[in-house]
Amino acid sequence: MTQWVHPFATGTAADRYLLGGKGANLAEMTKAGLPVPPGFTLGTTACHAFYDSGETLPETMWTEVQSAVQALEQETEKSFGGAVNPLLVSVRSGAPISMPGMMDTVLNLGLNDTTVRALAAQTGNDRFAFDCYRRFIQMFGDVVQSIPHYQFEHILDDVKSDVGAKDDQALTAEDWQRVIAGYRKLVERETGKAFPQDPYDQLRLAIEAVFRSWNNQRAIIYRRVHKIADDLGTAVNVQSMVFGNMGDNSGTGVAFTRNPSTGEPSVFGEYLTNAQGEDVVAGIRTPKPIAELAHDMPEIYTQFLQVCEQLEAHYRDVQDIEFTVEEGKLFLLQTRNAKRTAAAAVKIAVALVEEGKIDKATAVSRVDPDQLDQLLHPGIDPNAPVDELARGLPASPGAASGRITFDADEAEQWSKQGEAVLLVRTETTPEDIHGILAAQGILTSRGGMTSHAAVVARGMGKPCVCGCDALTINTRDGYARIGDRTLRKGDVISIDGATGRVLLGEVVRVQAELSADFQALLSWADEIRQLGVRANADNPEDATRARGFGAEGIGLCRTEHMFMAAERVPVVQAMILASTPTERGQALAALLPMQQDDFYGILKAMDGLPVTIRLLDPPLHEFLPNLEQLVTRQAVLQTRLQYENGAARTLIEQELADVSNLLGKVRQLHELNPMLGHRGCRLGITFPEVYEMQARAIFQATADLQKEGLNPQPEVMIPLVGVREELRRMKELVETTARSVEAETGQTLPCVIGTMIEVPRAALTADEIAEEAEFFSFGTNDLTQTTFGYSRDDAEGKFLHHYTTEKILPENPFAVLDATGVGQLIQIATQKGRSVRNDLKLGICGEHGGEKQSIHFCQVQGLNYVSCSPFRVPLARLAAAHAALVDPRT
Ligand code: ADP
Ligand code: MG
Ligand code: MG
Repeated sequence: MTQWVHPFATGTAADRYLLGGKGANLAEMTKAGLPVPPGFTLGTTACHAFYDSGETLPETMWTEVQSAVQALEQETEKSFGGAVNPLLVSVRSGAPISMPGMMDTVLNLGLNDTTVRALAAQTGNDRFAFDCYRRFIQMFGDVVQSIPHYQFEHILDDVKSDVGAKDDQALTAEDWQRVIAGYRKLVERETGKAFPQDPYDQLRLAIEAVFRSWNNQRAIIYRRVHKIADDLGTAVNVQSMVFGNMGDNSGTGVAFTRNPSTGEPSVFGEYLTNAQGEDVVAGIRTPKPIAELAHDMPEIYTQFLQVCEQLEAHYRDVQDIEFTVEEGKLFLLQTRNAKRTAAAAVKIAVALVEEGKIDKATAVSRVDPDQLDQLLHPGIDPNAPVDELARGLPASPGAASGRITFDADEAEQWSKQGEAVLLVRTETTPEDIHGILAAQGILTSRGGMTSHAAVVARGMGKPCVCGCDALTINTRDGYARIGDRTLRKGDVISIDGATGRVLLGEVVRVQAELSADFQALLSWADEIRQLGVRANADNPEDATRARGFGAEGIGLCRTEHMFMAAERVPVVQAMILASTPTERGQALAALLPMQQDDFYGILKAMDGLPVTIRLLDPPLHEFLPNLEQLVTRQAVLQTRLQYENGAARTLIEQELADVSNLLGKVRQLHELNPMLGHRGCRLGITFPEVYEMQARAIFQATADLQKEGLNPQPEVMIPLVGVREELRRMKELVETTARSVEAETGQTLPCVIGTMIEVPRAALTADEIAEEAEFFSFGTNDLTQTTFGYSRDDAEGKFLHHYTTEKILPENPFAVLDATGVGQLIQIATQKGRSVRNDLKLGICGEHGGEKQSIHFCQVQGLNYVSCSPFRVPLARLAAAHAALVDPRT
């Protein structure tokens, strides 16, 4: 029984948490009889053991590795460190969830001064053998001994310029030996020791380094961006080498079984002849399109197409495949479910259903709701004039504009200052991940569409154009040449990741159209989901857009936004500042028709669907001028009064009186803690005229629409209720108003009244409150504030970031609903509320209503609907379907 080592022949794809994705799929391909070079995997449990023993390999593990190598020697009939027929291996990282290029891999391990000669003799190819050896020293030096990559590059460049070689291909065996000599000096200088010659020493050090690479900076950032748990750990795969660099009948490449950028159903990939795998994925040389393989190696091409079909059919999903051809023989080195853009994800999912390969539910579950955002992002207006500088490869779609920088750190800094940045690089390496994250888009002069940079950009939904040959960058002096033009650091350009165009300046963008495939997928999601989806909208345009995205009503219509329109502010202020009921009455009478118009428009846009209208919620001082500004103005006027006479003085005196009067009122309304102050139904209780006016506006608009033959469905929502009596009184007010509008119009009007549950007391006494309410809507923004006792703006500005990075909290609770605490209040309110009114309608209208984990929570709690901003409606439809697939309700 081995504990740590799992030969490829023993695992399956289901073991990915133990074997890592790469190891699990290598095992699966081995079992399927595909040509995979033999090897074994050290599982993620070995990674944990490595860290537990202070970052060294436990002896039992090392003993197992040695036996596994011996078994590999037998299987391949080669010998590790042997003077004839030497076994060489790669030592490859491989996490349970793929993190392309973020961790390390060492190739050609086992080479030393003896085995390199053996390899040369055996292949009759000195050049090849020394090329492998120098690659090995370089990778080992970089990954294991932390010697900066560029130091190796300098040595290589020196030899190249010395012998006048344009590229690596032009170097001879002797040249490579000179490079090797230089490398070895470098290693000795940097480590104080000779380059290790014992293959077992090399192996042990490489395995340790790969385990350690789980915690390198870029892997940590990648995990944070993609929400991958830090404690999964990586597996290590030790695999016998095959060589794509043995001459022109050898090569290496990467291919996707369908286009990962657009979803087009044909094999899409790239390869290089006479090269090792690293050359393609690291984007060092711009490779050839896979179609050319049909001419270069027709038989391999046919065989490869068959393999693609076989793997796609086996995994029932698009695969991303690494292959190498060694002297006319095909080997497979990796397969995984391909990372893809949202557009491709949707197109592929729908196509696989049409091809009968998966069912609709599987298709729905294949698309990540978080990705959909990308599809709703605007693209370049096809009718707008553009100034095209050049074209590169369309590596990841979407339009991005920004100021260019050639440095990832700078991209990060600029974006922190709120600038839109484009990261422009010769090639991007995984070390640039923080810059990629900060940038609006990425442009590179080298590297193909399967380079790590392109894969990572697609995974993040960032527009990317790569392999733009016309571009040359001079990092040192901070400029780039593109065609005959010069771009300076900081200049604004745009890229179009769908066509590969690079454009000067900003471009006009237009709203994206939802594709037919997207509509189809969402309609399947609608068949599956059990939660309703509404939108938060407070004007007719948003309501119409939301309906277009599939919203089934409005879950939150905020009325305060309507009060904030510029031309209304003076009327609203007059209402607040009124010193007598008559004055207030006049201001309210002026506001009534405006409000009525608002509700008319929204109810019309949502004809036949429920519209939950929340009565005025924020504290009144939000509508008045700022206290500090008034104090300053008063001081300025008082000073000027000392120097002015006559008419000017009179004017100042008048303004001073006005300002002082206003200041008095503002001071009177000023609150120490407005979030917990005089707002919500507390305003309605103390100024019932305001709520009455709003209710009247709602019912008059309803009556008008009914007269036009429409079917308006308003639901009146009372905010911030904590005590049953608050709701009882406000409900009475609204009902009385409805009855008087009914009496005036002679019509029967729908009058549905409910409340928001957004303070803990309301949740805890939900059985009492439900006696008065026909519906509850969980206002989870306020409920999170009041449950945690955090004021959101202060928390997000001051300590929440620290809390989440230090893992005091798993997530920002204002982004992802806190299921344990806030969620418990929702659960209590749901149970208590339904215990007195079993048809109580329950929804959620905080920002959590558009977040997939929170939506899942709502499914489990048995809520009726979620409500979110219009642009998130498609996401919510899909996320609700995912939730129903995982946790169906009976
Ligand atoms: P990454 O996850 O960064 O892609 P990999 O472990 O897949 O790292 O390896 C990097 C490159 O080296 C890939 O192109 C891969 O195909 C190639 N490679 C890995 N192992 C071998 C091997 N045994 N023989 C030939 N090429 C290999
Ligand atoms: Mg790989
Ligand atoms: Mg609230």
